[in-house]
Amino acid sequence: MPEKKQFQAESRRMLDLMIHSIYTHKEIFLRELISNASDAIDKRYYHALKGGETGLDRGEFAIDLTADKEARTLTIRDNGCGMDAGELESNLGTIARSGSLDFKNEIEDAGDIDVIGQFGVGFYSAFMVAEEIRVRSRKAGPDAAFEWYSEGADGFTLEPCEKEDVGTEIILKLKADTDDEHYGQFLEAYRIKELVKRYSDYIRYPIRMAKEKSEEEDGGEEKDAGTEIETLNSMSPIWRRSKSEVAEEEYAQFYKDTFRDMEAPLRVMHASAEGAVDYRALLFLPAKAPYNYYGKDFEKGLKLYSGGVMIMEHCKELLPDCFSFMRGVVDSQDLSLNISREMLQQDRQVAAIAKHLEKKIKAELKALLDEDREAYHGFYKVFGLNLKYALYASYGMQRDLLLELLEFPSTTQEGPVTFAEYVSRMPEAQKHVYYATGESAAQIKRLPQCERLTDLGFEVLCLTDDIDEFLMKILWQVEDKELKSISEADLDLENEEEKAKLEQEKQAGKSLFEAMKEALGDKVSQVVPTTRLKSHPVCLTSGTGISLEMERVLQSQPGAEGLPMKAERVLELNINHPIYAKLQGIEGEVLGDYANLLYNQALLIEGFPVEDPVEFSNAICRLML
Ligand code: ADP
Ligand code: MG
Repeated sequence: MPEKKQFQAESRRMLDLMIHSIYTHKEIFLRELISNASDAIDKRYYHALKGGETGLDRGEFAIDLTADKEARTLTIRDNGCGMDAGELESNLGTIARSGSLDFKNEIEDAGDIDVIGQFGVGFYSAFMVAEEIRVRSRKAGPDAAFEWYSEGADGFTLEPCEKEDVGTEIILKLKADTDDEHYGQFLEAYRIKELVKRYSDYIRYPIRMAKEKSEEEDGGEEKDAGTEIETLNSMSPIWRRSKSEVAEEEYAQFYKDTFRDMEAPLRVMHASAEGAVDYRALLFLPAKAPYNYYGKDFEKGLKLYSGGVMIMEHCKELLPDCFSFMRGVVDSQDLSLNISREMLQQDRQVAAIAKHLEKKIKAELKALLDEDREAYHGFYKVFGLNLKYALYASYGMQRDLLLELLEFPSTTQEGPVTFAEYVSRMPEAQKHVYYATGESAAQIKRLPQCERLTDLGFEVLCLTDDIDEFLMKILWQVEDKELKSISEADLDLENEEEKAKLEQEKQAGKSLFEAMKEALGDKVSQVVPTTRLKSHPVCLTSGTGISLEMERVLQSQPGAEGLPMKAERVLELNINHPIYAKLQGIEGEVLGDYANLLYNQALLIEGFPVEDPVEFSNAICRLML
């Protein structure tokens, strides 16, 4: 009976953490053991290059996986550097004395070799799924082989064993299944393949497994002897190849496989940086939003790899919210892999990469806008709303990043236009950038207030999303031009002559306006004369505060009922319209009916419902009789 040795105090604590799972996904144990195997092969190869072993061929290195359902064991075997008795004891019995870290320090000058593990906790993750772990290892050279064995926190044993080949074999006896955890899944070939694909696809050495019997059967005829060995990983990451070597279809296929999209991406970005920030990135702009994109459960992020191993599936920190629609992969050698690789949040390297990517994505979208406007419209239809929300949520702070990417339908152009395009076309006499809100560009074009602007040759941006007008208020101005809603009371359009005429009419029609205001009561704040209209008798405008459209959006928010969020309503009467002439001299109840009809008419034209349909209809009847 070999003597039982105790784990060091820290190790026991770590082991405890592992058994009670520091990682959210127990499945990552396989990634850890495969990484270790890959590191071990790197080390053996490195020492051979330094003149240790001779006759080694890098092509013969491999990591083999074997599942035995009867024995309930999963074995991970490598032909890497192996460990002698002392190393088994210190590397696996002591935490934070990571052999890989020592090795890395030792070869600081080597530069050409990268080692995934930097903290000695990976191995213990196997205790999340295994009740017994046996590590059989043999180093190159004359040493004998040794077996390390542990059932968990109470210690481990170490004794000589038989092992022919150099390398390490790790045999996990999986825990019994419980109601919550099905550990047996790690014996299923499909599951193992899935995990290798997900986490270790780009390990540089083949990860192999024997094909299962049933897979070999072909039309009932069993192939004879010799089990077929399958390599589960693809070994060379597409993002490490140079752009010129990768065909467009390859990018598209990789995207579809990796991100489970039926459609090819709209745009592919293959970027890399060296120096202070060191990474390679392969990013995709999807053609369609995922079904849950605007829902709560959508998870943004990029896949993060370090040294050929996936360390995070959705690294949120790499993508700003405004570009949350991007999919892709980032690979960086010099990430500090801390104890839980799922916690890279505070990593400065990650933050630096994110900053880089943000600029690159912006540049890519701007290039799409400049080079292929049709495609950009396509992108914008799907994701434009996200850009607007992000800009709004940043209180306009992301103006430099996002403003150039916005586009809106316009009253004078076929397709949507950017602010820059709008401003470049402004006639000399035009001082402001005008916008109007409504259901559609067509409806906005028909607004009474629009007529006058169109006559002057002024373009109006059509805002059709709920967020738009709020965004305009936050942006306030673009390219030194104030953003102005055409429903604001003062548009500053009249010439001197008109101004004089208005002033005069304000006095002359005073009693009429007052009487109409009285008839309308709280519905309007005032009734005033206007020359801003052409063929329409009336329109509704609001002050510079919230507009009718904003009121509608705010009131439609859950829980907003009854809150004091009302737009000011000003009823403007067109003094050049025959109806205005008709109003002169009318008073009493008839004037009340007229006022009501005109008010509701203005609402209708703005795209709002009549306030009291019964009263509206009664007023019409009274006037017809
Ligand atoms: P890390 O990989 O971060 O160093 P691990 O807990 O995963 O930490 O492994 C601890 C140490 O055990 C490694 O640094 C390495 O020296 C040794 N080791 C683990 N697996 C193997 C293996 N398959 N072959 C050789 N050495 C190994
Ligand atoms: Mg490790």
